[in-house]
Amino acid sequence: MIRVPPHLHPVDPRFAALVHPTSRLERIAEGFTWAEGPVWFGDHQCLLFSDIPSQRIMRWSEDGLSVFRARNNFNNGNTRDRQGRLIGCRHGTRDVVRTEHDGSLTVLAAEYGGAKFNSPNDVVVSRDGSVWFTDPTYGIISSFEGYRSAPEQSARNVYRLSPEGALDVVVSDFVQPNGLCFSPDERVLYIAESGASHDETVPPVIRRFDVTETGGLRGGEVFATIDDGFPDGMRCDEAGNLWSSARDGVHCFAPDGTLLGKILVPECVANLCFGGPRGHTLFITATTSVYRTFVDVKGA
Ligand code: MG
Repeated sequence: MIRVPPHLHPVDPRFAALVHPTSRLERIAEGFTWAEGPVWFGDHQCLLFSDIPSQRIMRWSEDGLSVFRARNNFNNGNTRDRQGRLIGCRHGTRDVVRTEHDGSLTVLAAEYGGAKFNSPNDVVVSRDGSVWFTDPTYGIISSFEGYRSAPEQSARNVYRLSPEGALDVVVSDFVQPNGLCFSPDERVLYIAESGASHDETVPPVIRRFDVTETGGLRGGEVFATIDDGFPDGMRCDEAGNLWSSARDGVHCFAPDGTLLGKILVPECVANLCFGGPRGHTLFITATTSVYRTFVDVKGA
């Protein structure tokens, strides 16, 4: 009989090929308030992540932990574009911002239809350079992770910013759109509905959209339901499995939506990313801490 480490919760036999029976879950950094926005920089062998309430982007590597950027206007989700530049969502300035190679900041988008965004939350960049981001109200409904303000947008939209600078609403029927993630071939975009955070009648679902030839979205059916808490940040692995945050850890779903298993984490998980020297490390931002564990698959 194969021993199953306490952090692994297999549900489907396929999960065994994605993890390892002697892996561990390690806490590699702690002392934060709400850790989010992990992104791996393979060229620097370091992880950047946000601690939103303390307005810091932290930098972790095997050499230790440091502050990458302080007083950052409540930066939340992060990603990198095709040129390797850091793209982040800021609650305080209610915008999406790019860090140039020289360290300067370029605001990519701050308003739609002449009105400020709510508080951009999470962001991905597709191969053609389009920037896709969600705009729920978490950064303005209290002063915990932003500045309490009235929304100016009538909906909590998901946007696409084209390489030419055209900004379009691609979905507008979420209660609170949150994490988003492309399938490896970028034909599918998964978007998390986290409205259950403030209204438990909202189903805690991940929705699946087909990406159209013109950069729009079609469909939007329920792909999976989170059975503990609600989904926030998500990433796909190279095989197309979707790894989602949840209250009890990270839930792994096959491309057909079947729950394969969970990585149980002692704190509520907000986000995750793949990285590490060989791409086999799953980094998990979970409330006050960052964890890592080995996975036998690489990120998409
Ligand atoms: Mg989020």
